[in-house]
Amino acid sequence: MEHVNIPPANHVKVLGGQGWVGLIDHLGSETTIVNAARVSFGKIKQEMDERDIKLLEYLIANHHTSPLEHMVFTFSIHCPLFVRGQWHRHRTWSYNEISRRYTEVDIECYTPEKLRRQAENNRQASVAAPDFDDHKEIELIRQHNLKSMELYNALLDAGVCREQARGVLPQNMMVTFWGTVDLNNLLKFFELRDSDHAQWEIREYAVAMKKLIRPIVPHVAEYFERQGQIW
Ligand SMILES: Cc1cc2nc3c(=O)[nH]c(=O)nc-3n(C[C@H](O)[C@H](O)[C@H](O)COP(=O)(O)OP(=O)(O)OC[C@H]3O[C@@H](n4cnc5c(N)ncnc54)[C@H](O)[C@@H]3O)c2cc1C
Repeated sequence: MEHVNIPPANHVKVLGGQGWVGLIDHLGSETTIVNAARVSFGKIKQEMDERDIKLLEYLIANHHTSPLEHMVFTFSIHCPLFVRGQWHRHRTWSYNEISRRYTEVDIECYTPEKLRRQAENNRQASVAAPDFDDHKEIELIRQHNLKSMELYNALLDAGVCREQARGVLPQNMMVTFWGTVDLNNLLKFFELRDSDHAQWEIREYAVAMKKLIRPIVPHVAEYFERQGQIW
């Protein structure tokens, strides 16, 4: 049996290699999408041709999105708790996550490689600060992560149960979860999370997922690239 914290073969590393997202499985293809659209006419085909590509583009352009819901992707995601918090707001995904009630092993924490400054014109945003001499602050974060782990382990050693001891673990703790979503709602996720408005960390995951699914939905990707949207 493999550990869930080991990335699947088909994965992309993010956050300087500390996080990753992998594609576990997918259901359907672009042919499935056009066939789903053609169910209305009582017809299906086995392979895509030029007319099908046009139909696919027509569906997307006209927000005829229900055929896109017949393609489904399952990802394995290894990310800090604060990214997971943002991710789980997307209610159209199904989630399963490693439980810190069951296990206390393999806990690791994220330490950013570069710190950003608070944006002045947007209360929730940040700005890159290449001139920021952040070594001291990054080291403070690393030390805080370590101290949190020490306290967690001390509580377990003292006999405190895992479900209460985990309360002292920081937002930087890495979690691993599976997320399953249909293509329509995955595209909505890309629109929201690979955006200037989204936090850089979750944006890294959105970009990585696009890389993972591009070979599976090449014409969908090309359509959005041509429009200068989403992809
Ligand atoms: C840049 C950014 C900043 C954010 N800041 C905040 C914040 O400060 N505070 C905060 O609380 N949240 C914040 N969010 C989260 C945001 O409000 C959404 O909860 C999150 O982006 C999920 O979007 P969604 O509902 O479209 O996705 P999903 O839940 O995946 O839904 C996809 C689509 O399905 C439909 N849908 C799903 N569920 C329902 C439903 N119950 N009723 C009707 N339609 C539904 C909608 O069309 C929806 O767009 C932020 C998100 C972003 C991207």
